[in-house]
Amino acid sequence: MGSMKEMFNSLLLKELFKGLSVTGRYAFARKVTVRYPEEKTPQGFRFRGLHALRRHASGEERCIACKLCEAVCPAMAIDIEMGEREDGSRRTTRYDIDMNKCIFCGFCEEACPVGAIVLTRVFESHGERQSDLYYTKPMLLANGDRHEAQIAADEAADAKYR
Ligand code: SF4
Ligand code: SF4
Repeated sequence: MGSMKEMFNSLLLKELFKGLSVTGRYAFARKVTVRYPEEKTPQGFRFRGLHALRRHASGEERCIACKLCEAVCPAMAIDIEMGEREDGSRRTTRYDIDMNKCIFCGFCEEACPVGAIVLTRVFESHGERQSDLYYTKPMLLANGDRHEAQIAADEAADAKYR
């Protein structure tokens, strides 16, 4: 009886019309794909993209070389060396992040007591060699300078939820 029913359905092309109805339904439905890179998906203000080191409004770097970010990093991606300036303040002489190791967990940002290291919304960074993904202090400071307006806006949005 079952096979008769299957044969009858097959003759009427029932499965074909069922499939076409699904195609027709989705052909006019709202699109859920985006045409990257022309279109981008929305990002949250806590998006964890490429790192940046921030400065104070005076231009002075925020980082006080406490090394908390280096200690908390589960991937051991951060390397810091520090020294004392003539004015007695402590600053990093080297601050490197190896993005080959980084898992973008955001722990470094959470641990930083002065909001110096942050993860920006930048997700389109790439490297053609392994060494291209080794970010030095000048590169991280430059990232911060470039994206400071967005970083500050995200920080303000985040503060409302803390
Ligand atoms: S995001 Fe996570 S893995 Fe990457 S440097 Fe910061 S603490 Fe390390
Ligand atoms: S970035 Fe923040 S946590 Fe890391 S050494 Fe500098 S002040 Fe300390």
